[in-house]
Amino acid sequence: TYEDDSQVTFKYSEMTTTFAEPHQLRSKPDVSELKFGQVFTDHMLKVFYHQALGGWQKPAIIPFENISLHPAAKVLHYAIELFEGLKAYRGIDGKVRVFRPDLNMRRMNLSAKGSGLPTFDGIELIKCMNRLVQVDQEWVPHTEGSSLYIRPTLIGIDGTLGVARSESALLYTILCPVGSYFDKTSNNSLSLLADPTYTRAWPGGCGDRKMGSNYGPTIRVQNKAAKKGCQQVLWLYGDDHQLTEVGTMNIFAFYVNERGDKILATPPLNGLILPGVTRQSIIELILEWGEIEIQQRTITMHEIITLQRENRLLELFGSGTACIVSPISSIEYMDTAIQIPTKEHANPLYQRVLDRLAAIQYGHIEHPWAMPI
Ligand code: PMP
Repeated sequence: TYEDDSQVTFKYSEMTTTFAEPHQLRSKPDVSELKFGQVFTDHMLKVFYHQALGGWQKPAIIPFENISLHPAAKVLHYAIELFEGLKAYRGIDGKVRVFRPDLNMRRMNLSAKGSGLPTFDGIELIKCMNRLVQVDQEWVPHTEGSSLYIRPTLIGIDGTLGVARSESALLYTILCPVGSYFDKTSNNSLSLLADPTYTRAWPGGCGDRKMGSNYGPTIRVQNKAAKKGCQQVLWLYGDDHQLTEVGTMNIFAFYVNERGDKILATPPLNGLILPGVTRQSIIELILEWGEIEIQQRTITMHEIITLQRENRLLELFGSGTACIVSPISSIEYMDTAIQIPTKEHANPLYQRVLDRLAAIQYGHIEHPWAMPI
């Protein structure tokens, strides 16, 4: 196993930095017009793993460049790869903070185990990535609502076609400045297609890992949603049509139970959903506030329909690093359109959660979740 390798992690202290030449520097775009993930910064981080050379090599920050792969590289054939997504925010005090990177590192190592790729010490990668963000700090946008997206990626690069563990790997990190994830049409709330004929993840599968192989097959379903005029897919699972995730977000339902108590419910970490950093943060916030009961449990479409009919469904929203919190306004399910009154209340819960997380991310309040780089 990788644990037996002599070099079980790379080390920040061994990192080298090569700065881009003036002619390699790119012009910085206007973030208000940026679509997600289209423009990248001047530098990237690269760390190779070669079992034959003792494991992890020295990390290097270098000018942003294309990578060169053997045509048989396992990542290209068997999707032996995984990634993460986290963000750096420029605070009102000018300081740049990264949101809960320790949780992304834990998840990244779980994904690595799930792909047979080498694990590493997450603290070392955080230090390397912080340095990368520092090198490209002028790319961290200045307007609140925008941020610098950080995409660590780990790929299996053995140039051999056997469906087997990759003995060499490349971990790299790229950065892109981002404005708001979703376009602002439709009053900024989402319409969803919930079609039970499609499944994103299943028990014993790897839906709880951030592996590229979970995402490719979603494109055709996303296209179907778009054709029906819906913005995102609400992924259902099982004969009882359990809600699992929405697009690339976790989902929350805020409702009033039969006794009149307000409950915030979200699907459990049962292997069918990605353990979102935003999801965990929202659960922890609600527990800290102590006003609303939080339940991690299965939610079915039947329950959503009943709650909506009885006017007990208050809000539905998605959560994820890209959009933080995104209100949901309708679900198209079995040829009926279910209207969700998420945006029809004064002082909605999704907005309170969003405001609190933004206050932490942009340094309005000092909080241990926001790590200054
Ligand atoms: N589910 C899926 C499938 C995702 O890709 C993401 C984005 N990482 C999430 C949920 C939300 O996770 P997080 O809050 O960590 O961004």
